[in-house]
Amino acid sequence: MPEVREHESVIVGGGAAGLTSAMYAARYGLDQVLLTVGAPGGQTATATTIENFPGFPEGISGAELIMRLTEQAQNFGVQFENAEVKQIVREEDGRWRLVCDDVDYLTTAVILCVGASPRRLKIPGERDLFGKGVSYCATCDGFFYRGLTVAVVGGGNTAVEEAVYLAEITQKVHVIHRRDELRAERFLAERAFANEKIEFIWDTVPVAILGEDVVTGVALRNVKSEAESQIAVDGVFVAIGYEPNTAFVAELLELSEGFIVADCRMRTNQPGIFAAGDVRDTPLRQVTTAVGDAAIAADSAYRYVSERRARERAQQARA
Ligand code: NAP
Repeated sequence: MPEVREHESVIVGGGAAGLTSAMYAARYGLDQVLLTVGAPGGQTATATTIENFPGFPEGISGAELIMRLTEQAQNFGVQFENAEVKQIVREEDGRWRLVCDDVDYLTTAVILCVGASPRRLKIPGERDLFGKGVSYCATCDGFFYRGLTVAVVGGGNTAVEEAVYLAEITQKVHVIHRRDELRAERFLAERAFANEKIEFIWDTVPVAILGEDVVTGVALRNVKSEAESQIAVDGVFVAIGYEPNTAFVAELLELSEGFIVADCRMRTNQPGIFAAGDVRDTPLRQVTTAVGDAAIAADSAYRYVSERRARERAQQARA
C-alpha cells in the first residue's frame, strides 16, 4: 500500500498559476501542499522577457518572475513536494485521491494548474535530433547558437519573441510560418519585421528536419505552390503552440479540445476540482490571466473546504 498524505487542498503544478493558487490557499489558512514535477517554473520560466506583466515597466525575465513568486509562496508557508499525479479518483467520502508513484494524496479540494507542453511538429528528424539542434525553448538553448543560423517555426507570439531574442545571439533567423500573416500581436510583429537578421518564409511548412548527428537543415514545402526546398540551419526552434497536460484527467473531467472546462469560479464538472492557468479552456493564455484565475480558483477551493467543514460539524452535532 502506498503512503497516504492528507491535506485540505492540493495544488498540482508549479508554474505561475500553481504558485499563485498555493500562495492564496496558504493565506486563507488552508492546509495545503503544492505538487511539482521538478523545480517550479512551467512555461513562464522559459520566457526571455515578459513585457506585459503589470508592474514591471522594463519587463522581467520569466525565470526571475518565477523565482519571486516561489519566494513569495514560501513566505506564506506554502509546502512544496515533488510528485507527478498519474490519476485522480473519487473516494466514498467525497474526497479526492491523487495517485502518484510513491505516495497518494487524499484531499477535499484539488486545484489543477498543470499547464501545457510544447506542441510537436511530428515530422521526420524532430524526435531524433531533439537536443542536437531541435529545441522548444530559445531562452534555454539559444546560447548554443551564437553566430550561427537558426530557424523558428510558427507565427504566434512565442515564435516572434523567440525570433527577436535569437536574432540578438545568432547570425540569421529564418521564421517559417504556414500562412502569409502572423498570429502574433502587431507590436511584436513590427519589431521582428524591423530586424534585418530575421527573414520570413511565408506559406511554408517544414516537412523534415535534416541531419545525421546534429541539425544541418530543414526541408520545406510551400503550401500554396507545393514547391519543395531546403535551407541550411544549425538549429530549429519549434514554437507552434502548446498541448494541455490533461491525459491523466481525460476520463474524469469535461475537456474542450483537451483543455479543462471550468466556469468563472474555476469550478470543473467535478465538485472540489478546480482548474486555472493555461490548462483551462480560456480565451487568453497569459501570465496575467493565469495568476488572476489562480487566485479565483484558490478562493473557490477555500469556500468549498469551508462549506464541507461546516457540514461535517453540523453532522457531528446531530450525532
Ligand atoms: P499560438 O498563439 O497558438 O501560435 C501557434 C503558431 O504556430 C501559429 O502561428 C500557428 O499557425 C502555428 N502552428 C500551429 N500548429 C502548427 C503546425 N503543426 N505546423 C506549423 N505551424 C503551426 O502559440 P504561442 O505563440 O506559443 O502562444 C501561446 C499563447 O501564449 C497565446 O495565447 C499567446 O498570446 C501567449 N503568449 C503571449 C506572449 C506575450 O504576450 N508576450 C508571449 C508568448 C505567448 P496559425 O497562425 O496558422 O494558426
